[in-house]
Amino acid sequence: MTRIVVIGGGSAGTGAATNAIQFDRSLDVTLITEFEDIAYSPCGIPYVFGRDIKNFDGLFLQPLEFYSEMGINLKTETVVEVIDMDKRAVYTTNGEEYPFDKLILCTGWEYEIPNLANVDLEGIIFIKNIRRAMEIDGRLDNVKQAVVWQAKPLGVELIEALPHRDIETHLVDSGSWLMSEFADADMMELLQNHLVNDLGVKMHFGTDLMGFSGEDGKLTSVQTSDGDIDADMAFLVAPMKPSTKLAKSIGIKTGST
Ligand SMILES: Cc1cc2nc3c(=O)[nH]c(=O)nc-3n(C[C@H](O)[C@H](O)[C@H](O)COP(=O)(O)OP(=O)(O)OC[C@H]3O[C@@H](n4cnc5c(N)ncnc54)[C@H](O)[C@@H]3O)c2cc1C
Repeated sequence: MTRIVVIGGGSAGTGAATNAIQFDRSLDVTLITEFEDIAYSPCGIPYVFGRDIKNFDGLFLQPLEFYSEMGINLKTETVVEVIDMDKRAVYTTNGEEYPFDKLILCTGWEYEIPNLANVDLEGIIFIKNIRRAMEIDGRLDNVKQAVVWQAKPLGVELIEALPHRDIETHLVDSGSWLMSEFADADMMELLQNHLVNDLGVKMHFGTDLMGFSGEDGKLTSVQTSDGDIDADMAFLVAPMKPSTKLAKSIGIKTGST
């Protein structure tokens, strides 16, 4: 029986594993992934925060059992640390070995954490894992002021969502208008006016993020080149970089992304 190991349970890994087993039911397919869940849309998270989507259930394609019943050997909350190409096996951080005939890497991306003072304070958020997003959602009712860093698409979704939870929302961005990397100012004007005039979002354009202040390990304010902004929560839409560590460890040539 051909053994296929897929690393990463995001949309790419879930797609690879389900397609493999649907293509040939005799394959022995193992999907190993760090997070608790697979097969959900992270793209919908800001819309649940803003209650445009009622709850997180609406973001899942199928429950985990669906994939197990399909015949996929699912290993969640499991991180692959080493790939041994001579032994043709992967090794997890908890010492398990998974031999393979074919290996599919779907390790996705990770945030580039900015090198700023106190970036590890409680209340500073990088959204990715849906379970963590559920926990954050539960805390939003107690948040009075939030800062969103960077007017990229995810940042814009967040500044539209948070005012729906009665949170005074500040956007900090070094550009001069929303999504200035991708869009012209006149295209963004309508949306920008709506966010400011209808939702009360406070825009801090031409402003750099400098660091964070806190008390008892919790965020109290965000430092910017234009002064401090009081905040209970800060969402950092930091640059995203491909997770290529494992690929590089076995000599796979990686390109630009
Ligand atoms: C909040 C949010 C909103 C988004 N909105 C949009 C949108 O509107 N439109 C859009 O096109 N895209 C959006 N995206 C991006 C989109 O979700 C990504 O393009 C997609 O997640 C990429 O899927 P992937 O499977 O390649 O990688 P990932 O989703 O990154 O999945 C990779 C998985 O592999 C796991 N992994 C990595 N290394 C290991 C290892 N060594 N061992 C075990 N597991 C490992 C990771 O933990 C992760 O679960 C959004 C993302 C987020 C977080």
